[in-house]
Amino acid sequence: MTTLRDMRLECATATRVLAVAGLFDMHGHISIRQGDMMFICDRGASRLTVRPDLISSVRISDGKQLSEALPPSETALHLAAYRAKPEVGSVAHFHPMYATAFAVAGKPLEVASNAGAFFGGTIPVHDNPELIRTDELGAPVTRDMGAASAVLLRGHGALVVGGDVHECVTAALYLEESAQRNYLAANLGKVKAYNADEIRRVREMLASRFVIEKTWLYALEKARVAGALADLD
Ligand SMILES: [Zn+2]
Repeated sequence: MTTLRDMRLECATATRVLAVAGLFDMHGHISIRQGDMMFICDRGASRLTVRPDLISSVRISDGKQLSEALPPSETALHLAAYRAKPEVGSVAHFHPMYATAFAVAGKPLEVASNAGAFFGGTIPVHDNPELIRTDELGAPVTRDMGAASAVLLRGHGALVVGGDVHECVTAALYLEESAQRNYLAANLGKVKAYNADEIRRVREMLASRFVIEKTWLYALEKARVAGALADLD
């Protein structure tokens, strides 16, 4: 049985993994759902060294804080995604350099690489640049995300979702890889977007459990080798 301590450890680990990957800095948070609860790092905690006791818990149905640790100011982004998408088990919000460049330009991220095909289609832009701190601001973000598993927040950052925490971390990594590749390719000329059939065929191979676990393992071991998980073992 998964205990609350297990959930906090898993969330602290995933937070550090995304910090070592360069996707989180002083900002950025990943949450994990268990029933009507979500776990997420404390608002002020270092994403590089956050410990399980600094993982806060929040009730999803009414947003009530259940722990002493304070949830981040943009927890509404996570709550909105969980409420609208029952299949989602993990959500990450962050401000990655290349994906946010597309958000700053207000340009949806087209599928023009295999990393982009992971998402099954173009990643839309939510047009409101405000910090998402209320349910009223959170619900439209999820609406704009639609059936996609990611959305860009104009001038601000990105939100990705996954069925579980490994899939969510994988989506976070692929989002930034896709944006970086499109950005670089755009310097060579117009990117050659995949058509629907190409997206479907590549996605079939790439969005498999095997690839998700391999991607998670790479990111996890990168953090371990860097010494960033030593005190969690
Ligand atoms: Zn933000």
